[in-house]
Amino acid sequence: MEKTMDKIVALAKSRGFVHPGSEIYGGLANTWDFGILGVELKNNIKQAWWQKFVKESPTNVGVDCAILMNPQTWVASGHLGSFSDPLMDCKECHERFRADKIIEDYVQEKGIRLESAVDGWTQEQMKNFIEENQIPCPSCGKHNFTDIRQFNLMFKTFQGVTEDAKNTVYLRPETAQGIFVNFKNVQRTSRKKIPFGICQVGKSFRNEITPGNFIFRVREFEQMEMEFFCEPDTDLEWFAYWKKYCIDWLKSLGMKEEEMRVRDHDKEELSFYSKATTDVEFLFPFGWGELWGIADRTDYDLTQHQNVSGQDLTYFDDQKNQKYIPYVIEPSVGVERLFLAFLCGAYDEEEIGEGDVRTVLHFHPALAPVKIGVLPLSKKLNEGAEKVFNQLSRKYNCEFDDRGNIGKRYRRQDEIGTPFCITYDFDSETDGCVTVRFRDSMEQERVAIADLDAYFADKFTF
Ligand code: ATP
Repeated sequence: MEKTMDKIVALAKSRGFVHPGSEIYGGLANTWDFGILGVELKNNIKQAWWQKFVKESPTNVGVDCAILMNPQTWVASGHLGSFSDPLMDCKECHERFRADKIIEDYVQEKGIRLESAVDGWTQEQMKNFIEENQIPCPSCGKHNFTDIRQFNLMFKTFQGVTEDAKNTVYLRPETAQGIFVNFKNVQRTSRKKIPFGICQVGKSFRNEITPGNFIFRVREFEQMEMEFFCEPDTDLEWFAYWKKYCIDWLKSLGMKEEEMRVRDHDKEELSFYSKATTDVEFLFPFGWGELWGIADRTDYDLTQHQNVSGQDLTYFDDQKNQKYIPYVIEPSVGVERLFLAFLCGAYDEEEIGEGDVRTVLHFHPALAPVKIGVLPLSKKLNEGAEKVFNQLSRKYNCEFDDRGNIGKRYRRQDEIGTPFCITYDFDSETDGCVTVRFRDSMEQERVAIADLDAYFADKFTF
């Protein structure tokens, strides 16, 4: 079975996971809407993260901050000064590229080892490298580029009625800064002592030059970020701790080890303020791609905010009688990327005898958009089956389907990843039992309707 993006995108569209944005108007490039199943999968991913990073964690708490922030925030964070990509156009075919990406792809293809990461190069260095190596345009193959110019990735808009510079505000390009500016508020109200973490899930916006690969790189996306504040010199230990925690979380939700790899940044690649950074990567049908960035950001962010805001952001350790700016460990992951990774990981086409093939999504039950399909064998049995549906849908997202033959209905549920189907048949009327059918093994089991609550109680945990 070949797992291709074409097949996965087609299934996502036909079953209501993801639709092109503004479709009836011809769309808006690289925007996507999440449909009837997409919204469930997305919510389940966010809930699973919140469950492990906030609810079950003795050290962590959560916040939900505004998307629009005082522009001084972006001065302090460095986004106004340097959150930009080096942009370049091909003069022949007029395609637009990121100069750093063209170089990275070129050296990877040729097996060239660079002395320092392209990320840290000046525009001049990039331009010279492209010239010296006569790197061709990835689109038309010619070598005729414009100069490189910096392009800031933040979306700009105006707050209030006048569209002038002093009313300019930005859509946040990451959720992290809302956490930093609330560090003191959270510490005071939670009465947390260091070490502790603050978590947030929310929308971020980046005017990406080269979005693409379906929902892998988009301009509007959701992030799940944690800033974990710790004592200086304990940071590397906490970095290792959270790195493992993130990987364990992915595995506990069914991500396979052979589809994951951990890439530690070497010294040249690290940001100047970071002591350690790791990317957890996933093997998408189009190749390895960054899923989760985990970084030891030292005391950089709080120091910057202290300097720019003039507020004291130090922490007083009353045990040690010491004042310091905490160090920060930041795991940052995109919901859409995780969505795509779980969808690709779950996709399968299985031979089930006599040349018959079924498409199935092997989602972990905690992530499955529909948990239980309730299927009366005949429409004559709808009344009894509806009672089962009403009982279970108070707890789980269930789907009632009484149309078509039972085999086709099972296939439909397999294709959307429903882990359990309940068939209500003629015997159910007299013996008070139903048949539970498992998506993965396709085996069946007879269970009393009165026992269903207890039966499903531990089926969706992770
Ligand atoms: P990339 O190198 O892919 O542009 P990045 O290193 O800029 O990513 P971070 O700033 O570390 O990404 O963002 C943290 C996480 O947020 C990423 O690992 C990814 O999961 C998600 N993310 C970032 N940019 C996008 C985007 N444009 N679309 C979807 N998810 C994104």
